[in-house]
Amino acid sequence: MSLLNVRGLTKEFGDLTAVDDVDFDIEDGEFVSILGPSGSGKSTVLRMVAGFEEPTDGAISLDGVDLVGSPPFERDVNMVFQNLALFPHLTVAENIGYGLKQQGVPASERRERTERMLEMVRLEGYGDRTPSELSGGEQQRVALARALVNEPALVLFDEPLSSLDRKLRQHMQTELQRIQAETDTTFLYVTHDQEVALAVSDRLVVLDEGRIQQVGTVEDLYEAPESKFVADFIGDVNAVEGRVTGADGDGVTVDAGTGDVRIPAAAAGDVAVGDPVDVCVRPYLVRVEGDDRADAADGTFSTTGVVRNRSYQGSDSLYGVETEAWGRLTAEVRSASFDIGESVRVAWDAADVHLYRRDESSTSEPEAA
Ligand code: ADP
Ligand code: MG
Repeated sequence: MSLLNVRGLTKEFGDLTAVDDVDFDIEDGEFVSILGPSGSGKSTVLRMVAGFEEPTDGAISLDGVDLVGSPPFERDVNMVFQNLALFPHLTVAENIGYGLKQQGVPASERRERTERMLEMVRLEGYGDRTPSELSGGEQQRVALARALVNEPALVLFDEPLSSLDRKLRQHMQTELQRIQAETDTTFLYVTHDQEVALAVSDRLVVLDEGRIQQVGTVEDLYEAPESKFVADFIGDVNAVEGRVTGADGDGVTVDAGTGDVRIPAAAAGDVAVGDPVDVCVRPYLVRVEGDDRADAADGTFSTTGVVRNRSYQGSDSLYGVETEAWGRLTAEVRSASFDIGESVRVAWDAADVHLYRRDESSTSEPEAA
């Protein structure tokens, strides 16, 4: 049995459905992230699990116990808030031991467990300081220690790392993983930052406008995104508009304005003849070649364009190429050098695309990274 079961979870605020019929499970010991743009309902899901918000509809159970209706302090769950919510007038040790004191744990045991937590988060010797005497990263550790000290079954995180600079954030990600493994606790982490979510999670729940878009491992979501939204949100993607012109058992043909291209069934997804589609391809699968290259043969999307910008990314470069057929495309290229203004040919294999039926009524776009 899973540790956490969420079924049909729904929250309405007046006319707004902030969380819409959400289902997911978390296994004991997993690190799961809810990833979605700002306003997609992530915090509301978390607050309902914690008990700070009651669902309009649906069920939440933890270890087989129904949580809906029970107050936060009766749930075997702690939360690390975005603003950390440390008590400024208490010392670090008092902050960490606060919950134990509320529970009536005797002072000597409190001291011992607080000490152990300070060690766990590598803040030995910091117990007598106040939060204002700590750096941002150290305050994060105190908040984490406070959430872990009474050994809850589940710890919830609402974007606690978003205020840290990139380097410290990456360090804290590694620390979160270490501490999760050492304490054998289950983590549910909420973020709009795909980099954080991909780095730390066993599995991801992708949310948009209150609805689940896809649930899976990082690999599932990256290799087999079920929608353009997920493809775009988990990593970068180029999307080219086309129409399905033919279909048989081996795949489909798509015309994206440069003639029919055959797409094998494995990449074609669930589309039918006549459908408007987005042909999506990752930048690292786009080739940039000299424009004297003959147009490639069957099974390739290809067009000419002009290099508009280039940025070095260490081992490879990102090129922005303005194409006549498809507008601006991004290509991630290794060991090749083209100048700004140079005419080039861009191409990618039809087998490398993901094809999605274009919902012509949809206006939802992921937040810019
Ligand atoms: P996220 O955490 O993904 O940014 P939230 O869960 O905070 O999203 O919010 C989802 C939607 O619900 C937003 O449109 C937000 O404005 C709305 N919302 C959240 N809390 C309340 C509330 N207490 N009252 C009214 N609307 C709310
Ligand atoms: Mg939020």
